[in-house]
Amino acid sequence: MVEVIVFSILCFMLGASTGSFLGLCAYRIPMGVYEPVREGIPETEGPLSITTPVRSFCPACRHQLSWLHIVPLFSWLLLGGKCGFCRTKIPFRYFTIELITAVLCTLCYLRFGLSLTALGAFVVVSALILITYIDIDYMIIPDLITYPGVALGLLLGAASSYLPLHGVLPLDRPFTQSLTESALGILVGGGLPYLVWWFYIVVRKREGLGLGDIKLLAALGALFGYECALVTIFIGSVIGSIVGIGMVLCRKMGFASYLSFGPYLVIGALLYIFDFGNLAMFLRGEAPTTMWRMLH
Ligand SMILES: [Zn+2]
Repeated sequence: MVEVIVFSILCFMLGASTGSFLGLCAYRIPMGVYEPVREGIPETEGPLSITTPVRSFCPACRHQLSWLHIVPLFSWLLLGGKCGFCRTKIPFRYFTIELITAVLCTLCYLRFGLSLTALGAFVVVSALILITYIDIDYMIIPDLITYPGVALGLLLGAASSYLPLHGVLPLDRPFTQSLTESALGILVGGGLPYLVWWFYIVVRKREGLGLGDIKLLAALGALFGYECALVTIFIGSVIGSIVGIGMVLCRKMGFASYLSFGPYLVIGALLYIFDFGNLAMFLRGEAPTTMWRMLH
């Protein structure tokens, strides 16, 4: 029990630090490459990349941040959500991205134990968090994140099929267990939404779905199999519709406006990865089994 608590705290701290890095990536990766759709994203002069500049800076006063200003979660609370130099408000999102990543990192440990599967799940979860924040600001899901996801899924599948690495690979469920499974995942996860996309272009002359969303679904299919892609599409559509209808009712947008779909897909994928089916059964008092084991 003590061990679980200690490792949970360590994972929370690791997650918070990773979240801090993800916040930086979400700001720097699209900067200068894409046009922001959400207001309030500060402009920068000169090129920005994940590694340049190495040290974090305040976008308002351009002051380089000291170590006291970059302790995840703690700094934001200590400084009351303001820059330590110019007192410009630091968006709440930097706090939320650290908190969400910390909670999900702890969940990876609690769900999968101290294992390679937990590490793999945390890498994917981090990518999903990054996608969410970028999609909200720019309505784009960068290929820089989805293409490696597809490649990684195929590699994991191939390694499970052809490399005799017992006890190391395959990673446990929810990860794909064979190359066939990965390939089928890409076919269903990428192919099915692509048909919908094509249908919209031909019949309604507009994009009903972003190509980035399709690539994300293909990556999820490659990593976790086609079941994950289908569950993600279903849950994403349900949540997206509810939010969309809610927003129309609140008159925040017209019917034809584009809704960024990525965040809802991410919620669907997270529910699959952490297995909400298990939770539902647990709440009903039934013997816990996992959704992925039920599906496979
Ligand atoms: Zn400042």
